[in-house]
Amino acid sequence: MGEKDRIFNALGLKVALSGASYGDQWFAGSGDWIEVHSPTTGELLAKVEQASEADYNTVVGQAMKAFEFWRALPAPNRGEIVRQFGVALREKKDVLGRLVSLEMGKILTEGLGEVQEMIDVCDYASGLSRTLSGPTLQSERPMHRMMEQWHPLGPIGVITAFNFPVAVWSWNSALAFVCGDPVVWKPSSKTPLCAIACQNIIREVFQANGVPHGVSCVVVGRGSTVGERILADSRLTLISATGSTRMGKRIGQVVGARLGRTILELGGNNALIISDKADLTGALASAFFGAVGTAGQRCTSTRRLIIHESVYDSFVHKMIANYEKVKIGDPLDPKTLMGPLIDEEAVSDYQNALVAVRQQGGTVLYGGKALDPPPFGRRTFVLPTIVEIRNDAEIVQTETFAPILYVMKYRTIDEAIALHNAVPQGLSSGIFTDSVAEAEKFLSFKGSDCGIANVNVGTSGAEIGGAFGGEKETGGGRESGSDSWKAYMRRQTNTLNWGGEIHLAQGVEFHS
Ligand code: NAD
Repeated sequence: MGEKDRIFNALGLKVALSGASYGDQWFAGSGDWIEVHSPTTGELLAKVEQASEADYNTVVGQAMKAFEFWRALPAPNRGEIVRQFGVALREKKDVLGRLVSLEMGKILTEGLGEVQEMIDVCDYASGLSRTLSGPTLQSERPMHRMMEQWHPLGPIGVITAFNFPVAVWSWNSALAFVCGDPVVWKPSSKTPLCAIACQNIIREVFQANGVPHGVSCVVVGRGSTVGERILADSRLTLISATGSTRMGKRIGQVVGARLGRTILELGGNNALIISDKADLTGALASAFFGAVGTAGQRCTSTRRLIIHESVYDSFVHKMIANYEKVKIGDPLDPKTLMGPLIDEEAVSDYQNALVAVRQQGGTVLYGGKALDPPPFGRRTFVLPTIVEIRNDAEIVQTETFAPILYVMKYRTIDEAIALHNAVPQGLSSGIFTDSVAEAEKFLSFKGSDCGIANVNVGTSGAEIGGAFGGEKETGGGRESGSDSWKAYMRRQTNTLNWGGEIHLAQGVEFHS
């Protein structure tokens, strides 16, 4: 049995699949099929029939019904079920990680890391289920007490990007589940197999616990069809969407028009400042992983290096030496450091960006082309690329979702921070420095304007314990750790009068 068959068997996948589920059945009646090809070899892995409008309504109707049961289950019991999901993921870690690599193209260690992130967030959510709490507040009225409660919100819509085909759903769903919300998941139509596999794992856990169908739901389909239905559906109070800024602007408009809530996790344009006062060995390792890891297809990928002029030449030289050694190829081969881009369209985006680079005064220092001859005869493999260019070039201001790193010089720390912040996006950022003053300035209100700001840590990769998300065109949403759970619940302020006498707030008198 080949690797693909082994993965498919272990995860309940077949070569023809239906794209809608609210429990143990998969169904679809749209007649519209999505073909899923391996980004590595081009092999047709499977085809999935998209959810039709009727399928979609069946699924959301079931989620509405399931909400009645799920919200009544005590939160720690919901947490216990999420804990069991984490155990099931531990058992399937290897095979699910391999599916991520097979379908999305990231190297195996990163595929496994993504499943580990799911396990971590399940553990986190399980503990959280016992501490979802609001404060008790002092009332201005005699013998009154005020408090805040958090209640389940209702079924929520989760729309995910191709590049984290399992982890992003789990950040949302593990929290939503303990908060009492059913989840309707629309995965990227580039990676539906990962979503179907996740649903197959969680539905067994739900069944073993007697949870009625509809708490975890999947609707596979394109953004323009199934995605648009989710946006317009006022039964889904919250839409948590991860993807490009272009997609986020559309979601903000449509969901905003019905006064629904959103969590938007959009594109980044992340920079790392390399100070002359830094440990340059650590800086090099972090910049290299940040720029080349996941073939530059992370929202937190390092896209810009802002390097002190005194160390610029030697640092760039060492980066190029590292780039020359990158082994590009099959992501499931343990020797491979960089897999393919997701599809040929992504390669065109990479090539178009390099045309713009040259038109806008940039110089390619390394890479800049597709692999020739292409591995597996596929046009999806490119060289990781380093470009010297000005920060204000138009192409540098946009996120190209490919391994292109822009390098530039600075003289003073204030200049470095100004360059750092002079882009429309605000997701992740970092500075390498051993100067306390520089580090503190970078983290201060005068420093990085991003949702994530690190010192002596790169831009790429985040732990689940912190709130994850970014500012400006990154959308302002927060997921995963800290108090991100609050977005998945509705807040209620309560005032209780235990004294019997009626007192109006602000001392207002009102008698007949
Ligand atoms: P994309 O915007 O093309 O698609 C993301 C998702 O949105 C997909 O499921 C897609 O089908 C859906 N979608 C597209 N149009 C829609 C519409 N009109 N209505 C509803 N849904 C719609 O993004 P992608 O290429 O899959 O992923 C890469 C992008 O995601 C990058 O910009 C990256 O930075 C971003 N991303 C951000 C984060 C974050 O946490 N900030 C994490 C991962 C990826």
